Amino acid sequence: MKKLFFIFSLGFLVIICFFLFLFPRSQFPRTGQNIADAPNIVIYVIDTLRWDKVSAYGCPQSISPEIDYLSKQSTLYVNAFSTSCWTIPAHASLFTGLYSQQHQTNQLDIYLPDPKTTLAEKLKQAGYQTAAFVNNSLIGRNTNFLQGFDHAYEAFRDEEPQAVVPVQDPFKHDVLSTVVKWLHQYKPPEPYFIFINTIEPHLPYTAPHPFRKIFLSTAEAKKNWDHTYKMFAENFLKIKPFSDQWKAVMPKLYAAEVRFIDYHLGRFLRELKLNRIGRETLFILLSDHGETLFQRHEYQMDHQFHLHDEVIRIPLIINFPRYMSKNDMRLPKVSLIDIYPTIMHLIREPVQSEIRGKNLLAPDYGHELIFTEYYKPDFSVNYFFSQGYELDDKYKCSLFSVQNDEFKMIKRTKGNDEFFDLKQDSAELNNLISMPHYELKKNELSETYKSFRLLQAAEKSGTQPVQFDDKTKACLRELGYLQ
Ligand SMILES: [Zn+2]
Repeated sequence: MKKLFFIFSLGFLVIICFFLFLFPRSQFPRTGQNIADAPNIVIYVIDTLRWDKVSAYGCPQSISPEIDYLSKQSTLYVNAFSTSCWTIPAHASLFTGLYSQQHQTNQLDIYLPDPKTTLAEKLKQAGYQTAAFVNNSLIGRNTNFLQGFDHAYEAFRDEEPQAVVPVQDPFKHDVLSTVVKWLHQYKPPEPYFIFINTIEPHLPYTAPHPFRKIFLSTAEAKKNWDHTYKMFAENFLKIKPFSDQWKAVMPKLYAAEVRFIDYHLGRFLRELKLNRIGRETLFILLSDHGETLFQRHEYQMDHQFHLHDEVIRIPLIINFPRYMSKNDMRLPKVSLIDIYPTIMHLIREPVQSEIRGKNLLAPDYGHELIFTEYYKPDFSVNYFFSQGYELDDKYKCSLFSVQNDEFKMIKRTKGNDEFFDLKQDSAELNNLISMPHYELKKNELSETYKSFRLLQAAEKSGTQPVQFDDKTKACLRELGYLQ
């Protein structure tokens, strides 16, 4: 009898193991949705916020007191990265959990395809009330980013109903007041998902005078700096170089914008606290990309045409008392693509097999490799052209970057690749691409990126990828392509 019981138990164990093998924990299918204990979710994008302009990330100047206070109550990801250097592909990755090559929403086509399943669609299906409040027209109805939102407020439409490029005067609008108004009207029991993008501190740097006064002299603060975009274009095209005065003032104007948006964030967080209505809130604060700010000779302002640290690294702070500790600084590298699977885990939804992001609440979160992509800048070229400028041919190429803890490779389809030793040169100012000493490391990163692209292409076309060596297999395993 004992023997029979043992055989039966063993058989049962084998069946359980078989199912666990087929469906790892985060992907275990569940029947029926249960949102009774699901949290409210707020994703707040401070567009163009450079990570090292936040004191909590080490900025020596006190520019962001509200973000710094929030970070003390939250978990801060020290090494967080976007998937690109500009708004459209970064938001597409945030909304779908996919890399640029997978979601295909980039310079070539800025329209987020209908078949892509977005966070808002998944949350709506799960029973959430979903609302978007945006002041960046790249993230609106025109580009199909509002899929799945029950309610959508596009602040820029007040000014330009057909806007297809960012409206560069966001202070006429008060996006956050509209969110607060919506919160006052919100009726439980369903939880809510709110997405916010206030566009600032994007160019032009036009913070109100009280905020300029903090960082600029009285004379500088009073001056009109509104033509920053024109100056950027003319400087970039070598028509009119920036004067030393401009170079000195622009970072201060940017700081004033950060302080301005920081002030409003604080105001919003206090309102949010008053409106929690008995349900816990997962609050995610992040940026979609950074900003250049005269760090290097060729790319002095804005955030396009390159993939250096200052434009791809982002702040990421998560406040979620149930799961995450206070004042917790986490070092592993994370990416925008991790937000989607993290939220899917919370609402107990399986994650599609094409998702490479990791659940930030799981013990094995973090990536060994970070990939970013910037496709041939047709959209930006057309924008420049519409303003009367023609972009130099050398910028009309796609860029890709791959990095680990030690090294980073930036590849361009027109050549002029770059390679950096991140331990020695974290600012990525010393290009070592022609140094023979790094040949092996360069080849490794180069091959890794080729494999990454090849596999994504194979996945897209449904064909079987070619055979890879052990090193590449290890990389692909880390990416989640192989078991
Ligand atoms: Zn942006």
